[in-house]
Amino acid sequence: AHLDQIAATNGDLNAFLHVDVPGALAQAAASDERRSAGSPLHALDGVPIAIKDVLTTEGLPTTAGSRILEGWIPPYDGTVTARIKAAGLPILGKTNMDEFAMGSSTENSAYGPTRNPWDHDRIPGGSGGGSAAAVAAFQAPLAIGSDTGGSIRQPGAMTGTVGVKPTYGSVSRYGVIALANSLDQLGPVTRTVLDSALLHELIGGHDPKDSTSVPTPVTGLIEAAREGAKGDLSGLRVGVVKELQGDAWAPDVVERFEESVDILKKLGADVVEVSLPSFVHAMAAYYLILPAECSSNLAKFDAMRYGRRVTPEGSPSAEEVMKVSRDAGFGDEVKRRIIIGTYALSSGYYDAYYGQAQKIRTLIIEDFRRAFESVDVLVSPTAPTTAFPIGEKVDDPLSMYLQDLATIPANLAGVPGISVPSGTSREDGLPTGVQFLAPVLEDARLYRVGAALE
Ligand code: GLN
Repeated sequence: AHLDQIAATNGDLNAFLHVDVPGALAQAAASDERRSAGSPLHALDGVPIAIKDVLTTEGLPTTAGSRILEGWIPPYDGTVTARIKAAGLPILGKTNMDEFAMGSSTENSAYGPTRNPWDHDRIPGGSGGGSAAAVAAFQAPLAIGSDTGGSIRQPGAMTGTVGVKPTYGSVSRYGVIALANSLDQLGPVTRTVLDSALLHELIGGHDPKDSTSVPTPVTGLIEAAREGAKGDLSGLRVGVVKELQGDAWAPDVVERFEESVDILKKLGADVVEVSLPSFVHAMAAYYLILPAECSSNLAKFDAMRYGRRVTPEGSPSAEEVMKVSRDAGFGDEVKRRIIIGTYALSSGYYDAYYGQAQKIRTLIIEDFRRAFESVDVLVSPTAPTTAFPIGEKVDDPLSMYLQDLATIPANLAGVPGISVPSGTSREDGLPTGVQFLAPVLEDARLYRVGAALE
């Protein structure tokens, strides 16, 4: 049924870059066999899933939305792919994304934009717009996203889906094509909070192949979602972030956000306003740390080891081949960030830029620590606007960056976050989302409050 839905709708939506019909059908048949043989099954055995094209899948193309990886077939599975396969979930295919996960609209994909299923003239958010659109359009019940500065949560808000960025290090990054290693995290994209909990417990937990993997088991999320669904939040202290309010936020988004806060109060939560003063610098710090890390990560795409090589005429040197291939293979946003990152890391500037950004990062971690002394979770709108028209922000990188105002602090501090649908805007009828943040390794709190609000 999902493959039929993909066949009927993907021409318009462009949510999938690659659909593995024979592979998905074979995995589904194997699941049926396990079921009829009475074997013990994982709760998600046989439930199909879509995977963002940033995670390696053995034998299936993996492009990270870039021309430079066109035609590359990874010879190995990332850990999350391996866990998904071991639990028996058929993999439907790979979903569209901004090139190397840089963007907030999926328009930076080298393979064309993904359209928002609610309005085909609008973006689905980004960078994981493909995963979010696939889930919202019933092409897949579950998807994997990656969130470096909001790329799971912001598309969640824009498509009316649930998106979770787990605690940094609690889901393995082995096999993820790195954007910024200290910020990246894989996580679930689903239609319900309980579905996210089921998927999160499956993909989470220690992995010796990832040196930043936390040795703590990921458990209690399903239980927390079930508990939350009972709708009693008495005793839960919720902090509304003072710095994530004001003129940057569209009135129709704020209206739905305030209604969500009222619902939390009705369910018994104790709601107060809290201030995290360093949040105002988060965006500036992020757009130094991320380009610095990605300029280093992307150096490996030299057209010698992976993907597409463009060879100029004559007898070019290896360096000329690299130059021409990188020029043809990378899009504008990727080049912009490589240049900024290389500049920020160059000797003489390191202390002035990267060093300062790291200090802000520490201040943000401190802000979270202080806030979580008085509240259990923080809450804000996920994104400042509803989905905007395709093309509206492509020539204005700064206004695109502002989409991540609320989501970036969590990545800088490593704390977990969830975006849950908060109803449609009364102005344009498009989805809005509310974001909750919790202390490191307290992901279960997000499931309790998310399921209660849902
Ligand atoms: N939109 C942000 C950026 O462009 C976040 C990206 C992400 O989370 N991968 O960097």
